Amino acid sequence: MKQVRDYDVEKLMVATVASHTALQLLRAAKKTGFRTAAICLTDNKPFYEKFGFIDEIYTAAVDTLDKLAPKLAERNTVFIPHGSFVEYCGPKKAQSFKVPFFGTRQLIEVEADQRRKMMLLREAGIPTPEEYSSPEEAEPPVIIKLAGAKGGAGYFLAFTKQELEAKTRNLNQPYIIQRYIIGVGVYMHYFSSQMFRRVEVFGADTRYEANVDGRVFGLAEPSFVVVGNRPVVVRESLLPRYMRFGEQFASAVEDTLGTPMIGPFCLETIITDKFEIKCFEFSGRIVAGTNVYMGTGSPYSVLYFDKPMDMGERIAHELKVAAEKNCLEKITS
Ligand code: AMP
Repeated sequence: MKQVRDYDVEKLMVATVASHTALQLLRAAKKTGFRTAAICLTDNKPFYEKFGFIDEIYTAAVDTLDKLAPKLAERNTVFIPHGSFVEYCGPKKAQSFKVPFFGTRQLIEVEADQRRKMMLLREAGIPTPEEYSSPEEAEPPVIIKLAGAKGGAGYFLAFTKQELEAKTRNLNQPYIIQRYIIGVGVYMHYFSSQMFRRVEVFGADTRYEANVDGRVFGLAEPSFVVVGNRPVVVRESLLPRYMRFGEQFASAVEDTLGTPMIGPFCLETIITDKFEIKCFEFSGRIVAGTNVYMGTGSPYSVLYFDKPMDMGERIAHELKVAAEKNCLEKITS
């Protein structure tokens, strides 16, 4: 199969799975001068066909996706992975999709494992919620996270020891118990640039979650199911700490995986009323919360290029610079 070093950099194509942040990514790629392709793994082709900035649409099933890889590579494609791609395919299949990824491929398997994921954050020296190895030693309030839980579904809370004991007694699948942090959620977006040799703090969002932010009236347990996102700016006095955390994260990725952090990532945090920042999760690629800045640009992006950019535009810019310098291998894996 064609390797990235053999790509014709004048004819690059940017592809992603049609969901999540595909509109943001492909709109920006087209505007920057790349050909674009959307891969439909579900029956949403009629929707994506409506947008003129998408040059090619491929339909595939999860089982037949691999067959597309040689064709995409032949067409000089850089594939941008995102959360829905990983969710549809499962982490194993996603990680082994043989088209050059914009980003750090190896992080997919780390994220698929709750314990490895939290360990990476701790190795980065980023404060995380306390974790308890058994219900007996836990100090509620706690959040119980089932292995493989997605988008908040499969999480539940316990406010007392008795409740925790009752809720875990008959659980026969792996789970972790974390201290439930009381505060506000801030999902900080970063961009780790190999071309400019820096980590950029890019923007932030907070989530709009069913049965947490909805009209619940005490009638349902919190479910944390993400239905949308809202933009957030944090107090400027918090930004230096966030900046450090982003840099520490990128260094920890390089130290533990032996390969650099490439492109977007997100630290998912709760800020308490004492201004403690606790990180309960990360995403090693573009998060859907960046969509809140599509077409308008994120507030902090102006700090780096003196013009607002959304994350799709930032990625396209990095690709363009790498293509011009003929070093695509530095920003792909
Ligand atoms: P996640 O799927 O890990 O992004 O988490 C889903 C939601 O659960 C988050 O958006 C938070 O609102 C909440 N959450 C997860 N872990 C914690 C924690 N340790 N303390 C408080 N809230 C949490």
